[in-house]
Amino acid sequence: MPLTLTINTDAWRSHQRSLLADVPGLVPVLKGNGYGFGLDLLAREATALGVGSISVGIAQEVAAVRAGGWTGDVVVLNPWRPFDDAATALLDDPGVIATISRADDLRAVAAEHPTARVIVEIETAMHRHGLDPRNLTAEDFGELTFEGWAVHLPSSGLLVEARRLAATGVSVRPAPVWVSHLSVADYAQFAREFDARMRVGTRLWLGDKAAYHTTATVLDVHPVKRGQELGYHSVKAPKEGHLVIVSGGTAHGVAMAAPTPQRSLRQRGVTAAQGVLDALGRSLSPFTIGGRKRAFAEPPHMHSSMVFVPGATPPAQVGDVVPVTTRMTTVTPDEVRFS
Ligand SMILES: *Cc1c(COP(=O)(O)O)cnc(C)c1O
Repeated sequence: MPLTLTINTDAWRSHQRSLLADVPGLVPVLKGNGYGFGLDLLAREATALGVGSISVGIAQEVAAVRAGGWTGDVVVLNPWRPFDDAATALLDDPGVIATISRADDLRAVAAEHPTARVIVEIETAMHRHGLDPRNLTAEDFGELTFEGWAVHLPSSGLLVEARRLAATGVSVRPAPVWVSHLSVADYAQFAREFDARMRVGTRLWLGDKAAYHTTATVLDVHPVKRGQELGYHSVKAPKEGHLVIVSGGTAHGVAMAAPTPQRSLRQRGVTAAQGVLDALGRSLSPFTIGGRKRAFAEPPHMHSSMVFVPGATPPAQVGDVVPVTTRMTTVTPDEVRFS
């Protein structure tokens, strides 16, 4: 009775292959919850894609992708820090490329791990991590194997900025440039000017939304009368209706809220709908029952959720499979199925 992620295998893989064909030098990103699919499964997909290198977020994920059968190079995207023992242990691993984003760190790695393979990250308009290449000298690199410069742009990366930063890096030391978040067209232009690679996660694994969907299973249905107490917190039913108990709860990362950029109009619509429910003391659940999203009867439990559906007729039956909207970067399904 699981929360299930179903992959339309042909559509999913054909999207990956067409993106790979459009983006020569594509480096798949496998990190976190594996974009909902899991790191192990994505490691197998990346192997089948035939690419030479992949990227993970943090040092601990290297073992996870290798457990999934990956044998090629692995770039660790989060920059190395001297206090990160797991990342330090990988500096001597010939299959791992570390990212360095501070001059002090570059000098420390060059001194203590001279055989390390490194990418140096340039500070962009994101201002997350990165340095100004013009502050580095040839000595800072020591004997390190320099694999290139990284340019991690904001989500709608600008070609002009990518070009300017890459040119600065390459003028300090010629090398490949690993970008993130350029459009396919901008990357094509960029790759004419630089020895380019592009790290892609979301667009590769989640780019074709019709290629996967998440479903929950109805585990129980109970009629309730108006005012009847229900749930852990003995709240009163707002009117006559049914409680529908569905698989999917906090353990699956279902109904996890995160701030979204206020620029998104769609999100403002969602916020307004949420405001109405909040005023009633309820929240909209991600479960669609009887054709629309229903309110949670109470906060989700570990593996299931209680949803309230008004009306005298039972809206679902035990065993029914219902759509659930999931945030793919937080969901952990019980099962992933290829169909
Ligand atoms: C996570 C990450 C990516 C991939 O991001 P998506 O938006 O999932 O494609 C690329 N580059 C860097 C540096 C990252 O940390």
